Amino acid sequence: MDTGGAMWYNTRMRTDVLGVGFDDTTVAEAAKRAAEMIFRGERGYVVTPNPEIVWMCRKNAELKEAVNGAALVLADGVGVTLGARILGRPLKARAPGIDFIEALFGLMSSEGGRVFLLGAKPGVAEAAAENLRRRYPGLVVAGLRDGYFGVGDDVTGSINAAAPDLLVVCLGAPKQELWMAENAPRLNAALCVGLGGALDVFAGAVKRAPALWRRLGLEWLYRLISNPGRLKRMSILPLYLLAVIRSGLGGGDGR
Ligand code: UDP
Repeated sequence: MDTGGAMWYNTRMRTDVLGVGFDDTTVAEAAKRAAEMIFRGERGYVVTPNPEIVWMCRKNAELKEAVNGAALVLADGVGVTLGARILGRPLKARAPGIDFIEALFGLMSSEGGRVFLLGAKPGVAEAAAENLRRRYPGLVVAGLRDGYFGVGDDVTGSINAAAPDLLVVCLGAPKQELWMAENAPRLNAALCVGLGGALDVFAGAVKRAPALWRRLGLEWLYRLISNPGRLKRMSILPLYLLAVIRSGLGGGDGR
């Protein structure tokens, strides 16, 4: 599979957490790097794995290859930074996907950058676009479409026709990572970013945790309380932590 990314990046420099290599970066550094990639027309995609995605990678080799093939692998949340710390190779910061994209939109806004929004239920990308245009006046929303398309729909064709600099892909995991690994090389967009529920947040349909919760690394708890349906997904967290501890004691990926 040609993943299109990681051409510039020495993946040996990444911090391994159960087989997923994370970039040791702050949000500001990652946004600057992404803006450079866009400016230079370097192709690739960015992933933002949380422990649930790391866990899925253990069971899904194609997903693991897609995630590790990204140009940037950001530590989305406290579960990842905690895992890295337990393994004795701490990351310097958390880099939540939504903070990253806000920083990148800020940089693109001053340059008149073009973004295409792909994903979420019908109507959500439109509402997100309206809010983003207000918040980042220089940012051009070059196109959008919901994330419930069929195999026959020419999604890449409509993205290419809009000629964006950046494609935001919000299809949920693992769909968005697999989609980007397969399609990024065929897109005119320089960079793609997989961002889960970010369009729901930008549309105002889902609220982010208050700043204090985020500072304390409790965004996951806030999301769980606001949407108890997430409990099943998050029930892997103890298993994840156990595997991290096992991996720290015995090396390997904790199996
Ligand atoms: N989604 C989509 N197409 C699909 C499945 C999901 O566009 O086939 C969207 C869904 O509507 C939601 C997002 O993907 O907007 C996933 O959000 P979730 O909160 O699960 O992601 P997280 O941020 O937790 O990774």
